[in-house]
Amino acid sequence: MRRLAFGILLAGPLLGLPAIRVSRTVLVMGTQLQIDVIATSRPAALEATESTYQAVLRADALLSTWHPSTLDSLNHATPGDTAVIPSQLATLLHEVLPWRDSTDGAFEPVSGAASDAWDLRGAGRVPSDEELRQAIASTGPGAITIRDGVAVRRYADAWLDSGAFGKGAALRMAARALQDENIHAAFLDFGGQVLALGAPDSATGWTVAIADPRHRQQPALALLLRDASASTSAQSERFVTVNGKRYGHILDPRTGRPVPAWGSATVIAPDPLLADILSTALFVMGPDEGLVWANQHPAIGAVFLVSSDTGTRILSSTGARKFIVSTHSHPTP
Ligand code: AMP
Ligand code: MG
Repeated sequence: MRRLAFGILLAGPLLGLPAIRVSRTVLVMGTQLQIDVIATSRPAALEATESTYQAVLRADALLSTWHPSTLDSLNHATPGDTAVIPSQLATLLHEVLPWRDSTDGAFEPVSGAASDAWDLRGAGRVPSDEELRQAIASTGPGAITIRDGVAVRRYADAWLDSGAFGKGAALRMAARALQDENIHAAFLDFGGQVLALGAPDSATGWTVAIADPRHRQQPALALLLRDASASTSAQSERFVTVNGKRYGHILDPRTGRPVPAWGSATVIAPDPLLADILSTALFVMGPDEGLVWANQHPAIGAVFLVSSDTGTRILSSTGARKFIVSTHSHPTP
């Protein structure tokens, strides 16, 4: 995803007051976050970028699976022991986990064992059938039971992966921080996911380009977002290569196997957490099943970019059409 509206410090009208725009890039959650804030003064804008950064750092301290965090402690609990989940994480998981059922198991955060079987965080490997069978047994609701703020990790190789919802949770916490700072216009670009609050200058929203999954420097379409988040899931950015074959980081939890790199799924929703969860889930479903699912949920928008030798096909759900401002390749009739 790439932002089209650039600028470091731009002045313009905001509710009749002078508007100052500050842009700041930080490295956090293992990736780059660009924060654009429009405020009535430079100190206010600078303070808001700092509050945003601090909110994302708090999300990382809650959800990281790369370094010590609240979730990481849970993931290292002694198998069979009952672990009390601290309330902030318990509340979040209470909201996140039901999406496994709502997506027929396409979204499954307790999938760390399957990811390890393919060594997706390392050099990559292809597991044997027996290794895969074992990894699937340590994947899903039975592998870590979570209920009423208490968790039991059943197997030593089971762990809860926040990869599919962590950025969304962080952007939601950032949005709250911006609200607390009285910021009405801001744009956060977290690589695969953006959050657009209000609009810059006299525009009606923030224009965001969605990359062609085969040619990532080329935009395939543009979205106009206001008080909405867009999250894109694809295999093109993170993968391992084993014996010349690529395996992407998004798994079908039902088979324990990486989903083929068919293109990308983008979900637009007012809530960044939901956009993040559902872009991963719809990518696992694939464009056909995913489009049916998305059309049954018109409160969200979904755009599927399907790659083939002849080009990129764009499929959009009914909830997505109002956000699409231009397409750069061949939409389906
Ligand atoms: P995203 O980029 O938001 O689609 O999230 C992908 C990340 O989520 C992967 O790198 C894994 O950490 C994790 N993951 C992979 N497959 C799934 C899945 N089917 N459900 C939930 N999390 C997943
Ligand atoms: Mg996601």
